[in-house]
Amino acid sequence: MRRTDSPFLHSPNRPSVYVAGGDGPYANTCAALAQVDLLPARGKRVLLKPNAGRVAPPGAGITTDPQVLAAAIDAFSKAGADVAVGESPIVGVRTQEAFDASGITSIARKRNCPMIDMDARRFVKVPVPDGLAIDFLKVCPEVLEYDLVVSVPVMKMHMHTGVTLSVKNMKGCLWRRSKVELHMLPPVKGRDEKPIDIAISDMSAVLRPHFSIIDGTVGMEGLGPSAGQAKRLGVIVVSADAFAADAVACSLMGTQAEDIPHLRIGAARGYGVIDLDRMAITPDSWQDLGSAFAPPPENLSLEFPNINILDSNSCSACQSTLFLFLRHYGNRLLDYFPSDTGARIAIGKGHEEVPKGTLCVGNCTAAHRGQGIFIPGCPPVSSQILTAVSGKPSVDSKDGHVVTSDTVVGGAPEETPEETKEE
Ligand code: SF4
Repeated sequence: MRRTDSPFLHSPNRPSVYVAGGDGPYANTCAALAQVDLLPARGKRVLLKPNAGRVAPPGAGITTDPQVLAAAIDAFSKAGADVAVGESPIVGVRTQEAFDASGITSIARKRNCPMIDMDARRFVKVPVPDGLAIDFLKVCPEVLEYDLVVSVPVMKMHMHTGVTLSVKNMKGCLWRRSKVELHMLPPVKGRDEKPIDIAISDMSAVLRPHFSIIDGTVGMEGLGPSAGQAKRLGVIVVSADAFAADAVACSLMGTQAEDIPHLRIGAARGYGVIDLDRMAITPDSWQDLGSAFAPPPENLSLEFPNINILDSNSCSACQSTLFLFLRHYGNRLLDYFPSDTGARIAIGKGHEEVPKGTLCVGNCTAAHRGQGIFIPGCPPVSSQILTAVSGKPSVDSKDGHVVTSDTVVGGAPEETPEETKEE
């Protein structure tokens, strides 16, 4: 069954988008949803898919605000739906731990709303017809079993894909480590776009949500999805067209959907509308609720002079680990490298070779471990990097800063994560 046909979408050629702000997250979400006829949800099983892919507290701009989810549960329940919340987090994060940290557990339990670890059961292989970068996806079974899927992402910039909103949030419906495979694809012949962007548009052919609720209560600017700065906006965007919702959110964030490859490609393939002139957006003054988000840096090396980062086909988990490490310990790292060359760090799977003396971060660089220092993990935690370089394992274990940072980004627990062991 494809997750694409929305019973809430009455005018596919001119989708409605509702924006609400100026109040708290619960009230804003209720106000936006009050404008939508949710009756098609009556008697249906509705799966809310928040962004709870990392272990992070509410208000950090990383996970969906629990009050937004609370309002969504209440609204769909009131419409007569049987509602559950489900997530498949990034590699190394346990779903219940992420739900607990985000505050979702607390609001879901109060409402007797089931929380589903979508990694617990085996995947279903779903073909992607006309896929340009991928032929099939390993999808969490609940996504296919529930009648309606609602994407409830956080408004964030993203270092790989420009933004991450309701279309990209559906990547968290892919089973366990199969998410990572979208970052490891070869270039698509005849296309200039990055394979990850094409793959997300492929994914949206079969995993488009039936409804979107974008949480702009506290978003993330800069180095999203987890290592940027929290940005308070206090806005909610809802629509039955995920592309239209994302396009409006992009505009509120000071960017344009046409500049976001996965949205541009998906819209060109007819999966949704991103042209603001072809939407009915309420209220008329919706743009007054926006505030420009700082874009993601083009290159991490620009942020850290004397540190040369060789990034080839990495995924955001390793980038976040590395960024957090450099933000806290970049200067100390340079003590361990010659002053004339600085430090050289490799992440990602795409390296055919790396120069001698390179710090190889993450399991994807294991083939080059002989070239320098290798830090295992998928992803490693940032404290491992300094420990490996300095040879002083106790240095960071007492540093509360590190522990907090890894907790916030949802870096892998100190032991090898279960998912890493399996595939
Ligand atoms: S080692 Fe890093 S880049 Fe490679 S799959 Fe794991 S998290 Fe992604």
